[in-house]
Amino acid sequence: MSTTSFTKRTLGLETAEPAVTPPPATNNTTFAKKPKLASKSRKRDIPEGLWTKCPKCSSMVFDKELDENLKVCTHCQYHFPLGARERITSLVEPSTFEEMDADMTSVDILSFTGTGSYKSKLDKYLKSTGLKDAVITGIGKIGEHQVGLGVMDFSFLGGSMGSVVGEKLTRMIEQSTKRGLPAVIVSTSGGARMYEGMFSLMQMAKTCGALAYHATARLPYISVLTDPTTAGVMASYASVGDLIIAEPGAMIGFAGPRVIKDTTQSELPPGFQTAEFLLDHGLIDAIVPRKELKARLVSYLTFLTPRAKQSAAA
Ligand SMILES: [Zn+2]
Repeated sequence: MSTTSFTKRTLGLETAEPAVTPPPATNNTTFAKKPKLASKSRKRDIPEGLWTKCPKCSSMVFDKELDENLKVCTHCQYHFPLGARERITSLVEPSTFEEMDADMTSVDILSFTGTGSYKSKLDKYLKSTGLKDAVITGIGKIGEHQVGLGVMDFSFLGGSMGSVVGEKLTRMIEQSTKRGLPAVIVSTSGGARMYEGMFSLMQMAKTCGALAYHATARLPYISVLTDPTTAGVMASYASVGDLIIAEPGAMIGFAGPRVIKDTTQSELPPGFQTAEFLLDHGLIDAIVPRKELKARLVSYLTFLTPRAKQSAAA
């Protein structure tokens, strides 16, 4: 160490001169090329936005392949979140979906402010997702069956249920009742939207009330739970289906596991709050992989709809 520092000092001239002037270009051409070669790294072979890393098995999945497989990992069958529009496309016959209340948007009734105002959050998600709120509703055809369909989208404020989500779903259910159609709701939600306080909690009773009328008319309602379906949504319309089906590995529950653990002061069993655990304990009726969902819905709807009604709808 000491020898090298000594030799450097003996060079003298170089260290005394500040290295402000650039080195002559002629001599350094071969040297200057080297970093260029080095910068031709592997990143060029894997362009950004073409591959997605699977959070379950850590393998890189080609985005196009993932889209073709309905956002299910081709290696481990992990079900990635699916947007509401993509979900509707995957379930409904082409050009049969008539959207309802497409322009209904949330209002900041309470002038809520916390880490950010509710208004600013709404504006942010309106821009980033292209959605007006966390649910899309309408009437469409699944196979031969005309159904009322509501599909939630987790990317809009965690799929939280505010007045708009509750109202759109209620109107869809009421319209289904009126027209004698089965109702299908695909849920994914973090729960009630706390920015709307009590107004969001009221949606639990409102949607369930509409479903009760729907049941009185002896019309089926199928609830599909996707990852995650929790809290106020799970405690209302998501859990009152005539049939409740879930996607594999979906997290389903009311409160989070940490809260339950703290409240009950006990260890939670392995796999707690997963679709598989709930199926074992009788809370849901079936687990259906995404690629089979449409076919299964068709067979369930055929089973649940009397023949007379089927021919009338056709
Ligand atoms: Zn995977």
